[in-house]
Amino acid sequence: MLQSRHRVFELLPVAVRNTCHFYESPPAVSGRIPQHFIDELIARADIVELIGSRVPLKKQGKEYKACCPFHGEKTPSFTVVPDKQFYHCFGCGAHGTALGFLMEHDHLSFIEAVEDLASRVGLDVPREENAGAKPISSPTDGLFAILDKAAALYRKELGSSERGSDYFNSRGLNIETVQRFNLGYAPDAWDFTVSRLGTSDAERMKLLQTGLSIERERKAPGAGPTGYYDRFRDRVMFPIRDARGRTIGFGGRILDKGEPKYLNSPETELFHKGRELYGLYEARQASRTLNRLLIVEGYMDVVRLHQAGVTYAVATLGTATTPEHLSRVFRICNELTFCFDGDRAGRAAAWRALENSLSQVRDGRQIRFMFLPDGQDPDSLVGAEGREAFENRIGKALSLSEYLLKHLEEQVDTNTVDGRARLAELARPLLERIPEGVYRELLAEELAKLVRIDSARLTAALSARDPRRPPLVPVEAPRVMRPLAPVTPGGRGSVVRQAVRVLVHHPGVAVKVPGSEGLENVDRPGIPLLIELLNDLQENPCVNTAALLERWRGRPDFEHLAKLAGTEYPVDAEGATRELLGALESLFPANSERRLAELLKKQGESGLSDAERIELQGLLTIDRSGSDGTRPRT
Ligand SMILES: [Zn+2]
Repeated sequence: MLQSRHRVFELLPVAVRNTCHFYESPPAVSGRIPQHFIDELIARADIVELIGSRVPLKKQGKEYKACCPFHGEKTPSFTVVPDKQFYHCFGCGAHGTALGFLMEHDHLSFIEAVEDLASRVGLDVPREENAGAKPISSPTDGLFAILDKAAALYRKELGSSERGSDYFNSRGLNIETVQRFNLGYAPDAWDFTVSRLGTSDAERMKLLQTGLSIERERKAPGAGPTGYYDRFRDRVMFPIRDARGRTIGFGGRILDKGEPKYLNSPETELFHKGRELYGLYEARQASRTLNRLLIVEGYMDVVRLHQAGVTYAVATLGTATTPEHLSRVFRICNELTFCFDGDRAGRAAAWRALENSLSQVRDGRQIRFMFLPDGQDPDSLVGAEGREAFENRIGKALSLSEYLLKHLEEQVDTNTVDGRARLAELARPLLERIPEGVYRELLAEELAKLVRIDSARLTAALSARDPRRPPLVPVEAPRVMRPLAPVTPGGRGSVVRQAVRVLVHHPGVAVKVPGSEGLENVDRPGIPLLIELLNDLQENPCVNTAALLERWRGRPDFEHLAKLAGTEYPVDAEGATRELLGALESLFPANSERRLAELLKKQGESGLSDAERIELQGLLTIDRSGSDGTRPRT
């Protein structure tokens, strides 16, 4: 596997030239985000999961409730509506979509919220290059740029340094792999990076903000800072990239003996260890449809596995796997295997990973654990036995439930009654962390077999222990169906508002009604918005309220529509279609006269259905006076 340095790196100058365009112009990180992407993002996002990861939500009927994170309260009036992918608070009036929540709650800009949400659902944010239009630049653009410059610098240095290239050669890496991961080398100097990239105060500040440099300690009280020095010295460098392939930090591995073996960028504005996975960008590049992921422990493991063809390997960045990592992973695929060394440290890390996984267990998701033979790591193993043998090992990994029960079983003597009771005790808090569902029930059944009692009795015994514990199956509060809201009587414009409200709550019904033709001649407030809504939704149907709102973000009527979305409207799609049809019809005086006559006739002859009664009520209460408003109502 060893290759000569010259063979491996003779191509490097070309590659380096290719990455050096950053010096001429900053990378194109901005530009307009296409609307179809926002549509897809909203369609894929799960607002319950997003908000639920920050605010404890309680299911109540079809909605979720919590104490509002935007104002202080003791009784929950904050509501998340999955059907509409929308939240609103009856207390303080806060409302919005998943993107709106990220902006309000996490204080992100719109672009940042889009990026955050996109990385959660595993989408890359595309940009429209808009000739003539000035791209929107954000303060973080400069930080991304300097990190990319640093990556290019280390990459170039790897080409001219025997020390760095010898190391990768000795680990059997080929040029394609080095290029794919953009690996580099930071030489043994205090100011290699600082002197080359820190060419102005502003650039030096960026180096500091991105963790590439460290500020020298002040020499004496009152003395100003004397400058900065490089964080990464004499290390091979692994750029860590975000979902869009931008460098957000580095992992640096020491070449000789020394501590720490791996040094990571510190937490910065761009780099959050608890969220990022090394190799995820490369894994997504390698396969358009990523079905599974393998989480290993080290950067070299990831790189080496990819080279061997296991291109779905990723690593956490020197931290345990967090629930946030997992929720990210499960946005991308449903199959996850953890790979750990078979030693004591590996087993401890595996158990921690299991504990952090419990809240992410769902029906249809597969979480497994594999343990390597003592003294082996994925890097050495895949090098020795190749991809197929390694993937066979993945195939034999333990399922989460197998590993959980096996681990607990090892701690007790299941041959005794006491031991089995203890096993049930140990399992209880773990089971409780698994969301209700088939998976939890199956696991409880497995556990019941092990402790040799009937699973119903076990479940009862487990839940009887703690009176505060909610019952296994929550009693769903009966949803009070309000009677359909009567058509708002009142002045002109109310029918328009009614139609707009229907469209906001059920954007899907727009395709079930005739187009806006003729509406332009109707002289009522709000007509232009209604026409715009109808045309837009008929041309590009929206899946839900949130998608509609995101399409309107930035337009003058956005707030108005968002407020309407926050009003209660307990009408199903069918009722909404009828209401919209009735409202549209009544906007055309001729139509409504005809329809009114029809309904009145039917009422006298055979009686009306509920829907027709509502329609009639609407037709009777609206002002169809045209422009002068003097004609009495029928
Ligand atoms: Zn509130």
